[in-house]
Amino acid sequence: MEQSLNAVAAVQNFIHQPHHHYIQGQWVPSQSGLAMEDIDPSTRTVLTHVARGNGDDINRAVEAARQAFREKSWRQMTPQARGVLMWKLADLMAEHLEELAQIDSLDMGMPLRQAQYGTVPMAIDHMRYMAGWATKIEGETIPVSAGPFFNYTVRQPVGVVGAIIPWNFPLLMAVWKLGAALAAGCTVVLKPAEQSPLSVLRLASLVTEAGFPPGVINIVTGYGPEAGAALVAHPDVNKIAFTGSTEVGKSIMRTAADRMARVSLELGGKSPNIICADANLKRAISGSMLGIFMNQGEVCSAGSRIYVAREIYDEALEQMAAYAQNMRVGMALDPKTQMGPVVSAEQYERVLGYIAKGRQEGAKVVAGGGEMSRAGAGFFIEPTVFAQVTDSMTIAREEIFGPVAAVMPFDSIDEVIERANVSAYGLAAGVWTENVRTAHYLAHSLEAGTVWVNAYHVYDAAAPWGGFKQSGFGREMGHHALELYTETKDVWISLQ
Ligand code: NAP
Ligand code: MG
Repeated sequence: MEQSLNAVAAVQNFIHQPHHHYIQGQWVPSQSGLAMEDIDPSTRTVLTHVARGNGDDINRAVEAARQAFREKSWRQMTPQARGVLMWKLADLMAEHLEELAQIDSLDMGMPLRQAQYGTVPMAIDHMRYMAGWATKIEGETIPVSAGPFFNYTVRQPVGVVGAIIPWNFPLLMAVWKLGAALAAGCTVVLKPAEQSPLSVLRLASLVTEAGFPPGVINIVTGYGPEAGAALVAHPDVNKIAFTGSTEVGKSIMRTAADRMARVSLELGGKSPNIICADANLKRAISGSMLGIFMNQGEVCSAGSRIYVAREIYDEALEQMAAYAQNMRVGMALDPKTQMGPVVSAEQYERVLGYIAKGRQEGAKVVAGGGEMSRAGAGFFIEPTVFAQVTDSMTIAREEIFGPVAAVMPFDSIDEVIERANVSAYGLAAGVWTENVRTAHYLAHSLEAGTVWVNAYHVYDAAAPWGGFKQSGFGREMGHHALELYTETKDVWISLQ
């Protein structure tokens, strides 16, 4: 309790400071002098203002990152010393966990408990996991037959990384990129989302406190088409690591193609979640509701297409509707809140628009279905469950990124595999069954980067994460992530 009261004071103090860019280890105002409003979605009021960066600020930050990449203080730092620094940063994050949780919660509407017990601890774990990799990025010796040669590989940092992240898990998305990039020895310019830049700025002061050399991590806040686009187009950025919408991901890929910058993309999803007739229904219902309503449905891997075996469909639907109706929707900072507001006015209109479209196209609302002003003045939307949905309806095809489930019956396993795989996306999938053969058959057949069986939304720093198809490419967690931030160099030494 005391810790959380101290954190409240620290957070208030932090929020009301001026928020500049973090470049070369310093707080630097925007060269244009412009700022952007940052809104608290629980109240729709202005929380604070943040620097609005443009190409000039990006140029400075990329220059700082390039210089840091060349300098001995980073380049020649031993992998172990790099790991120690990262671990130190993780310790500082743990020390300020409560504060970081409150900041994300205020800034984008994430329920405080989820931030405290879920996403901020995950970010800390991730930094520690990647700190351990700094000393383990090994090459190979290759038994070549081309002649008397000793052939070996080394893995070198790709260089300056431009990282662009979305608003739904601000701190976690930043750390997913920073962790692997730093372990590999890269330097970074990070642009957080305009809606939720604050936790990353708080992290920046911990970066200074941990003792990172200036310029290794730089943060430029601003709008996507200004700061984001300038970062993508910058000729001295070697690699773009992007998490966000498929549409922006495609445009980034096009721009990066011109100079062959490396690109990794974590994009949208419309993930199928399949409840078989033999599932443990109680577990399946609560897991599936978490699957769609966690973080207000603002999760790339939200299980938004729920397929239920026809023989249990009515019963499952009834239980899902009851679950949704009983959820506590409210202010993000209230520890009792299970679902907070959606992030912004734009997102609010977008999600309500999808709900209206679902009704128009003939689906039936069995829970929720509207705004929720009784939860407060913020952007509150009811947890919504649709029945009588067909595969061709908009709500069954497009990513809503809000608390809206489309529930559909199925008749056979092969039929549901085909319907699940029809989507252009392929990020994640859920399966609920007590039958081991069905579990493996579905896990094997679904086109998704992650398949959860009798679980949903479990993540671990050690387990790879990323999409099939239009959900992107590259794997961000586990040792797989290091591939994205290293180049393999092959060396031939003549033995004659
Ligand atoms: P978004 O609109 O694509 O924005 C993502 C980031 O890109 C933001 O920082 C944004 O800046 C920036 N941006 C926008 N236009 C840009 C441009 N032309 N050039 C460079 N940067 C640009 O996505 P979002 O609405 O923030 O996030 C939701 C999306 O992210 C969903 O589709 C979701 O599925 C996906 N997501 C995927 C994963 C995953 O792991 N696969 C995880 C989380 C989220 P602004 O803030 O100014 O718009
Ligand atoms: Mg905000």
